[in-house]
Amino acid sequence: MTKASAESSVFFNEKGYEKFNHFIEQESFTKIFVLVDTNTHVHCLAPFLQQLETNIPLEILEIDAGEENKTLDTCSSLWDTLSHLGGDRKSLLVNLGGGVVTDLGGFVAAAFKRGIACVHFPTTLLAMVDAALGGKNGVNLGALKNQVGVIKKPEMVIADTSFLGTLPAAEMRSGLAEMLKHGLIADEDYWNRLNSLKELGITDLEDLIKESVVIKEKIVKEDPLEKGLRKSLNFGHTLGHAIESFFLVDPEKQKLLHGEAVAAGMVLAAFLSSKLEGFPIHKRDEIRNSIHSMYGRITISIEDQEKIIDLLKYDKKNEGGKINFVLLRKIGEPVIDREVPNSLILEAFRFYLALPENE
Ligand code: NAD
Repeated sequence: MTKASAESSVFFNEKGYEKFNHFIEQESFTKIFVLVDTNTHVHCLAPFLQQLETNIPLEILEIDAGEENKTLDTCSSLWDTLSHLGGDRKSLLVNLGGGVVTDLGGFVAAAFKRGIACVHFPTTLLAMVDAALGGKNGVNLGALKNQVGVIKKPEMVIADTSFLGTLPAAEMRSGLAEMLKHGLIADEDYWNRLNSLKELGITDLEDLIKESVVIKEKIVKEDPLEKGLRKSLNFGHTLGHAIESFFLVDPEKQKLLHGEAVAAGMVLAAFLSSKLEGFPIHKRDEIRNSIHSMYGRITISIEDQEKIIDLLKYDKKNEGGKINFVLLRKIGEPVIDREVPNSLILEAFRFYLALPENE
């Protein structure tokens, strides 16, 4: 571990680059590898390099963009390349990209030579408020999400919010879902403010992004290894991940972004919360209406619902065959490790599907 790891390690914009330049000046890295995907190569690499002040040799590693490339095969080819390019234990890996790059790059760094230093530069809203924070990394196994990985924090996270300027609107909405989740599990006022956002511009979002970072960092700090409280960050993700996995494998299905699946998962979890935890009905409806107005709704046939429920057995929170849900007692008050009968999940789907489809 290097010196930076002891302190809180998320920095923004200019201050972030200052911290980063100072960090690499202090550590005697032999080489800096910058991992990009095909899109961040085009949109983010040049501005990143412009801010870099170092003479340490630099290599660019590129992967194809997209969740379908978050695989062990991609890791394996990166490990080969790192080795071939002379990567050693004093190399630094910079992960410049969205959650796919930070999740996969974090894992590549954690395992290469039994662990080299890495720094995340998240370039999507979702990665800034969620994926790059907390040290969870890893890859999918086939369509099953995040089945292989470790928890190891990067040395620091630098969020340059100007990167959001080139992010497609659907990706911005996807990131917003994790911010909404932070509001629902931790802070009703924050949830209300997100709901009154007129548009997803960088200026309006800047402070809200910082608040989301604080919420997630606080939870992770209290429970870094996910023994209890940290599980609340999975609100909406039990069914959300199953929906995401289900749509990922079937090329006939619409392409779903992570946040879109999580948004649907949160509506389902709100319904289950009202059934099992006394979560207020008017708040349940508020969540459904608000998410519907931002995301529309996904079409999921009864047959597909059964298949999605079947995928729940692969959820990482399961213990001894028991599927564990995060539910809400009220906004800001999550409860973890809740069991839910399948019949109620089907009822939750009916509640979700009762609103009109996407226009
Ligand atoms: P992503 O990395 O696939 O990025 C979305 C798309 O935006 C990609 O096509 C990417 O190339 C492109 N892109 C990235 N930055 C850009 C920019 N500045 N301008 C233009 N295009 C840009 O997906 P994501 O939504 O960032 O992250 C989703 C992943 O994060 C999932 O794999 C999910 O499992 C993971 N995740 C991890 C955690 C965690 O705690 N580790 C938490 C939440 C999500």
